[in-house]
Amino acid sequence: MALRAVSAAAAAAATRCRDSPSSLAAFSRFARRTVASRAEEDRDAVVDAPTTSLLGMSEEALTRLAREMGEPGYRGKQMHDSIYGMRKARVVDMALLPGAFREKLVRGGMEIGRVAPADVVSSPDGTKKILLELRCGSVIEAVGIPGDVPGDAASGDGPRRRRFTACVSSQVGCAMRCSFCATGRQGFKRNLDAAEMVNQVMALEDVFQRRATNVVMMGMGEPLMNLRNVLEAHRCLNADVGIGGRYFTISTVGVPNAIAKLAAHKLQATLAVSLHAPNQALRERLIPSAKVYPLDALLRDCRAYKKVTGRRVTFEYTLLAGENDSVEHAEALAALLRRNVGGGCHVNLLPWNPVRGAEETHARPSAKATRRFAEALERERGITLTVRKTRGLEADAACGQLTGSFVRKRRVSVGV
Ligand code: SAH
Repeated sequence: MALRAVSAAAAAAATRCRDSPSSLAAFSRFARRTVASRAEEDRDAVVDAPTTSLLGMSEEALTRLAREMGEPGYRGKQMHDSIYGMRKARVVDMALLPGAFREKLVRGGMEIGRVAPADVVSSPDGTKKILLELRCGSVIEAVGIPGDVPGDAASGDGPRRRRFTACVSSQVGCAMRCSFCATGRQGFKRNLDAAEMVNQVMALEDVFQRRATNVVMMGMGEPLMNLRNVLEAHRCLNADVGIGGRYFTISTVGVPNAIAKLAAHKLQATLAVSLHAPNQALRERLIPSAKVYPLDALLRDCRAYKKVTGRRVTFEYTLLAGENDSVEHAEALAALLRRNVGGGCHVNLLPWNPVRGAEETHARPSAKATRRFAEALERERGITLTVRKTRGLEADAACGQLTGSFVRKRRVSVGV
């Protein structure tokens, strides 16, 4: 009976993590086409994670699990303390629990869900990228970015707060196919479950030996195509791992209906929207999915998000030389935001990090062109901006690139 309870919990968790189809039929068809265009042998891999992980579960859920397995409720708190407090990586190591219960969990196929990095790549500026090999054999990446910022943003002049940002992947690959992005070029494999996202943050904390203060969903994948699991990971990272709600950023290229769904949860998170172009025609050229979610509709949803949540929306703009980086583009961008979103917009400029295979189509703008674009934007009232510093690591390993070379290396060594 106890074993049945474990299997039931595992099945429930797996159901919980199955992604709901996108609400807009055209958008779903777009994403499906991406998957269908992948190599035949890859297609079976389009499944959600086999979820039997304890990681991601709240104390309440762990208490329920303990009771279902015929154990006293306080075993839930013991499991919670073991996973998030003592940071145990294996069920057998949860010494707070009696051996017989640990065995029962193991026999039921439950595991904690912690995975140690298969590789860590360090940059002289302190950034580290970790590669995590998942049970299904896929490889994902997460990046730890240390840095200092002035004290608490809300109070303005509090004590200096040591910032440590975890940049997290939400999917294996990505279906959005943005032409300049390394992940987009790899195609889509599957959604990550909450445990796999929480593990990235805890693994980075272990590597850096410090607690994460910020989480940005800016790694591989499109978080709003995996909203349910992203929300579950957010809950756990906030309530169980202890990261403040205001220190989350969810970055999206835009998925129809998903921004409204996210807004309804009224998180304190910042929504970052990847625009990359000041008009529909150019945006469609860079972002194929933009065809089924026009700029007008996307910006209308951003405006509504701001109204419903009271949180500002930031806009990401990857600068591509000769394509979207002129002063005219900057002025058009400012006019677009003013007209469609209103005041108080923040733009994050990202000079393109060259990606293998895309160098014939795109180029990184010069520092001068980047500065001119930024100055033109700064002249506009109501717009604040940051220019993303290209970290040493990003120059060698832009979003998704490292995973690609890791997989290639592994294939070669297997083949030899
Ligand atoms: N799918 C999400 C997260 C993507 S990664 C989104 O589209 O927002 C976070 C940001 O980095 C996005 O704005 C993405 O377009 C941008 N980006 C991806 N590859 C890049 C590259 N090689 N150089 C500069 N920016 C890049």
